[in-house]
Amino acid sequence: MAQLSDILLLGDARLYERCSPVEVNEVLELEPVIEQMATLVLLFREKYGKGRAIAASQIGVMKRLVVLNIDRVVPLFNPSFEPNSSEMFEIWDDCMSFPQLLVKVKRFRSITFTFRDRDWKECRWLLEDDMAELMQHECDHLDGILSTQRAINSLSFKMLR
Ligand SMILES: [Zn+2]
Repeated sequence: MAQLSDILLLGDARLYERCSPVEVNEVLELEPVIEQMATLVLLFREKYGKGRAIAASQIGVMKRLVVLNIDRVVPLFNPSFEPNSSEMFEIWDDCMSFPQLLVKVKRFRSITFTFRDRDWKECRWLLEDDMAELMQHECDHLDGILSTQRAINSLSFKMLR
């Protein structure tokens, strides 16, 4: 049974490690992990009223896998992105590994986001604004980078009650 305590919290060394690529023959064995991650997004959203995606490293599975769960469960294998322009915007970013802390970061406004789906087909999404921000955040997780490391300056932290 998935429970919120499965999610690693800020300070856990595994959150700062780089994840390894998923191989096509691992997709099937990752199904239970995908299900667990999808449930955790729902549980988190129930409790905190936010949360759309989670990276596998946030539950200690060091694979390049992100699960998006907004209106349906979408596993994203080996995701990456390219900015469409150099335009950036500032945003208060949140993270399931530190629910009470917001961090102000700069992200690209518009990206081309690429991943493999369950059928190992290469998919390409054009994303802007908050969805672009979300996927930049998740790709960072797979490289062992948290938004705390992208804080614009020492005033870029805000605690929630
Ligand atoms: Zn996060």
